[in-house]
Amino acid sequence: MPSYPGTIDSKLPRVGTTIFTTMSRLAAEHDAINLSQGFPDFDCAPALRALFTKYLNAGLNQYPPMAGVPVLRDAIAEKVEALYGAAYDPEHEITVVPGATYGIFTAVSAMVHPGDEVILFEPAYDSYAPAVEVHGGTPVYVQLTYPDYAIPWEAVRQAITPRTRMIIVNTPNNPTASVFSAEDLRMLESLLKGTDIVLVSDEVYEHIVFDGHAHQSAARYPGLAERSFIVSSFGKTYHVTGWKTGYVLAPRELMNEFRKVHQFNVFVANGPIQYAFAEYMKDRDAYLGLAAFYQRKRDFFLQGLEGSRFKPLPSRGTFFQNLCYDAISDERDTDLAVRLTREHGIASIPVSVFYREPPQHKVLRFCFAKSEATLARGAEILRRV
Ligand code: PMP
Ligand code: GLN
Repeated sequence: MPSYPGTIDSKLPRVGTTIFTTMSRLAAEHDAINLSQGFPDFDCAPALRALFTKYLNAGLNQYPPMAGVPVLRDAIAEKVEALYGAAYDPEHEITVVPGATYGIFTAVSAMVHPGDEVILFEPAYDSYAPAVEVHGGTPVYVQLTYPDYAIPWEAVRQAITPRTRMIIVNTPNNPTASVFSAEDLRMLESLLKGTDIVLVSDEVYEHIVFDGHAHQSAARYPGLAERSFIVSSFGKTYHVTGWKTGYVLAPRELMNEFRKVHQFNVFVANGPIQYAFAEYMKDRDAYLGLAAFYQRKRDFFLQGLEGSRFKPLPSRGTFFQNLCYDAISDERDTDLAVRLTREHGIASIPVSVFYREPPQHKVLRFCFAKSEATLARGAEILRRV
């Protein structure tokens, strides 16, 4: 193919290939244990696979309704009401989407005008800023404090201007593995009161909160729910990241705008998968047991790391464990992540890539959504570093 003869005024001049693709590729090249990109190395429940094939074979293979199949929206509404006490109308306030990334992007697309400001917390999951920038919005960053990754609420207050259109939050948080407290949500609620600011609450790890704590969904707080797009992902909950299906909750007025974009962006999410999730969701234990399942993996990985020079930071939710390496090396985290992959055969994610101006924190993120055999081998390698 000859090269494009014109000039391209890139809408995303700073964006390259994501760190997840980069590190997973490097891990494959070096046959390294891949604790970088967040996905399970074990399969989903056979019962869920069976349901997917059941609905494929039942011939439900044409376009489902634009907002998602009614049985799934009903099941989501029931779950959200049972867990968070919030009643969402499946007809107007719940939309099934092809993944949380898409849900976040579409919410931004529907709400953010050129010149609008969107407050993001750094380190920020990598899809947020590009979603804002490609729509002509301006990300405004507030840094979580290090090393506890708490929210500096006074800085948030100061970051709000008349141009602030949206705030994007993420709890449990990727990449820090921190979680919001009830007090955090109340602070946010009081800060946003009386404004037109819309909240996007990325809650894809809603069922993975450790040590007996409860997930603080924006749905629990009426002053937040009334202005929020709440985004979740079946990929995390049911160990099927490749199925790319999630959902968005929002009050009717916001959801109406969301669907205007959604219907021309993808129109509908995959159909047979939706029927499978609707039926599988009846088994509440599958999501209610997820926190204990991952807490065991976190603790197994941490036990394996005992005696290592890596220092674990708290992992209060998600399936990530951050390790501080300031007792090991002065290298930048981006360099160490590559060297560990090449020389030691273990891949991780350097946390500095989630900042616009990388700080000097010496932290790598490790995914423990892996079998015990993988975690044991990974921990053994890390003990020797
Ligand atoms: N938000 C966060 C914080 C995530 O970690 C991820 C995926 N790892 C997503 C969104 C995207 O989820 P999905 O795969 O459903 O698009
Ligand atoms: N969210 C996953 C992670 O944090 C990766 C998803 C992706 O590769 N885009 O590792």
